[in-house]
Amino acid sequence: MIKSTEQLQKYLDKKAFHLVSEAADELQTECYVIGGYVRDIFLNRPSKDIDVVTVGSGIALAETVAKRIGRGASLAVYKNFGTAQVKYKDIEIEFVGARKESYNRDSRKPIVENGTLEDDQNRRDFTINALAICLNKGRFGELVDPFGGLEDMQNKIIRTPLDPDITFSDDPLRMMRAIRFATQLHFHIQEDIFDAIARNKERINIISKERIADELNKIMLSHKPSIGFLLLDKCGLLPIIMPELVALKGVESKEGRGHKDNFYHTLKVLDNTAAKTDNLWLLWAALLHDIAKPVTKRWDNQLGWTFHNHNFIGEKMVPRLFRNMKLPMNEKMKYVQKLVGLHMRPIVLSEDEVTDSAVRRLIFDAGDDVDDLMLLCEADITSKNPEKVKRHLKNFELVRQKMKELEEKDRIRNMQPPVTGEEIMEIFGLAPCRQVGTIKTAIKDAILDGIIPNEREAALQFMYETAAQLGLEAKK
Ligand code: ATP
Repeated sequence: MIKSTEQLQKYLDKKAFHLVSEAADELQTECYVIGGYVRDIFLNRPSKDIDVVTVGSGIALAETVAKRIGRGASLAVYKNFGTAQVKYKDIEIEFVGARKESYNRDSRKPIVENGTLEDDQNRRDFTINALAICLNKGRFGELVDPFGGLEDMQNKIIRTPLDPDITFSDDPLRMMRAIRFATQLHFHIQEDIFDAIARNKERINIISKERIADELNKIMLSHKPSIGFLLLDKCGLLPIIMPELVALKGVESKEGRGHKDNFYHTLKVLDNTAAKTDNLWLLWAALLHDIAKPVTKRWDNQLGWTFHNHNFIGEKMVPRLFRNMKLPMNEKMKYVQKLVGLHMRPIVLSEDEVTDSAVRRLIFDAGDDVDDLMLLCEADITSKNPEKVKRHLKNFELVRQKMKELEEKDRIRNMQPPVTGEEIMEIFGLAPCRQVGTIKTAIKDAILDGIIPNEREAALQFMYETAAQLGLEAKK
């Protein structure tokens, strides 16, 4: 963490900050870098957007800065919001006038008035997000930290500057933000602040699903997403925003046989996946892979607890979940569905004998997503029994090796039918009918089962044989 003013000065010695400084002095207005950008300087995190607040007109300051940069600067003015943005090369600076905010109960949109720097810092969500650094020449690099944000960063604490009940009730999105920052930064939400989240949890209902999903996505993309989900669960927000996950909780025992707690198992799988990828949709697949376990749970006198078909039912549940959460209903959702549906296949495969034909079928069904599927399945091994884990991982290694060999030989991954339906219709003088599908499927199965190679000549030959068995004759 940056601790000395000297280091800070060095950081600010970027041309952009001096330009803003000169422009503010020209307009004779106070001006500060503020919020997330300042926090991230101290935490040594990469940060893109620079937010500048001025006690005056943000738009006028942006215009002056853009003029001083000259060619190459682009200025966007948002009159309705009283903000403006200057872009130059890879730098983006947002300008806004210092403001004071007050809220009414039904909306998270505040009533906004012009204010002082102090007013502007008071409206910030957390002490660590309320730091400002002055850019005016006489005070260049001076840190304004009215709430002890720097100390909180050193102690890794998340705390609101003002009364937390008011802060969270005014804008309930801040509850999600608190948990998101705790997850991203590995910070601790101070007890009284956390209690206030629990008290105000119902207020989350005034927040749009899209904004909640944005925060959830950021939690998912953290190093250890389980931190966020455990906090969401503990404060009572999770049952409101995603009851399906809470339904995974609990262990039932019968005749001395229990099953694992699928909530904690899911979080472990999510963490394991997050350690290997930052593919957001693969992380969603990890979160949802066992989502149908509660609805498929049965007791069987021989087998004990079973969750038969939970992968297929889970696949069917994904669209409704995505719709409810306002997540995209496009190919991303289909990808998550596919992985949830297939997530048992490599495990089942590696428990049995690893046959060529089963591996070919897996490659065929998963297509280009087969590597992601394997990653998910390895993440799914959370057994505490090291022998079991070792055995599974060894079998997976075998599956991977077989996949590589067979793919090189048979090119199954994006296999196109070597004989098309149109060709079959043409050769046998058929209109579209079930027999065409039967022949096509028979050819595909023969390739996947290794009866014939994935080659056109062999496929044609096989087609004639299959057609003959169906009593079809080729047109002359
Ligand atoms: P990140 O860039 O990691 O998403 P951030 O908080 O730095 O997080 P923004 O969401 O752009 O980035 O917010 C910038 C600043 O605006 C914050 O640091 C905070 O001071 C303030 N802020 C943002 N959202 C809120 C809010 N809901 N309530 C109060 N202050 C907020």
